[in-house]
Amino acid sequence: MPDIYTRKERSEIMSKISGKETKPEIIVRKFLFANGFRYRKNDKKLSGKPDIILPKYKTVVFVHGCFWHGHEDCKYSKLPTTRREFWEKKIGDNILRDNRNQRELKKSGWKILIVWQCEIRNKGEREKRLLELIKEINV
Ligand SMILES: [Zn+2]
Repeated sequence: MPDIYTRKERSEIMSKISGKETKPEIIVRKFLFANGFRYRKNDKKLSGKPDIILPKYKTVVFVHGCFWHGHEDCKYSKLPTTRREFWEKKIGDNILRDNRNQRELKKSGWKILIVWQCEIRNKGEREKRLLELIKEINV
């Protein structure tokens, strides 16, 4: 069967599906590492398997895809018009799960920081957001 997607489109689709080592997470990790932060990743013992764990700062960072995590008022989180109810339920469940995980982490004394994918999409905004992230970690 011929591939109807270009390589770039396919890799974007796959990065959305796999949810494992997607590109935005790598961007944030690399930035933190370059700035001297040492982290662990995806610790299964922690609620929601945070993308980045900074034990020294008792801080976890989630790098959230806007669509799957229902980023409020974000153009990238717009639901498809077909199968509307299905998507509302699906994304709604994800949001509930995120909230639950974050409550658990807070209870155990973790500081939770979230980087949305749309915040690091283009270079200018990315730099701004990542510098801000460092400040948030250091607070
Ligand atoms: Zn967003």
